[in-house]
This record gives sequence, structure tokens and C-alpha cells, in this order.
Amino acid sequence: MKNSELLTAKRQDLPPIDKQRQYVLRSLVQKNACPNCGHALNFFEGARVDINDWEDKPGPTSCECTICKRELIYVVPFLSTGGNGGWHWHLVPIDPER
Ligand SMILES: [Zn+2]
Repeated sequence: MKNSELLTAKRQDLPPIDKQRQYVLRSLVQKNACPNCGHALNFFEGARVDINDWEDKPGPTSCECTICKRELIYVVPFLSTGGNGGWHWHLVPIDPER
């Protein structure tokens, strides 16, 4: 099943592993504001990846704002402090050496 199909599948019809994947996908399609320019974008837009090409793998994914091009970090707070889907964007600090 494609990620886009899983996203809209009926939850009760899914095996537990796909329920978990669906939960993650539903969080990631929520849009949150870029802290730099305020543009709302979802994880797939920030990571420049098609939802159907995405796999949940460990480690950080490099993301950037589609409008202001600032590098962004996808952050899931330990305690949810708001943000759509329970996550928000952080800016990657600018390295003055670059
Ligand atoms: Zn931005």
C-alpha cells in the first residue's frame, strides 16, 4: 500500500503496524509554521520528498523552508507544547564560519 493510500485507509481495517504508520503519516502531513518567515509547511514539503517515496528511518532528515530556504529541524517535543500533529519546526542555527 502506498503511503498516500494508507493515509486515507479505514483505521479499523489495518493491521497494528500499519495503524502505527498511519498515525505517523497523519502527524507529518500537518503544516507548521517556519520560525523564520511564518510560512506553514508540512514535513514532506520541508524534506522535498514525495509522500509515497518516504520511509520512516532513524536519524535526522534534512529539511528547509520552501519560501525562505532556511534549514529546518523537525522536532517532536517530549511534552507536546502544541503545534499541529504534535510537532513543530526549529531553525538550524546559522554557522557564522560559513
Ligand atoms: Zn521560512
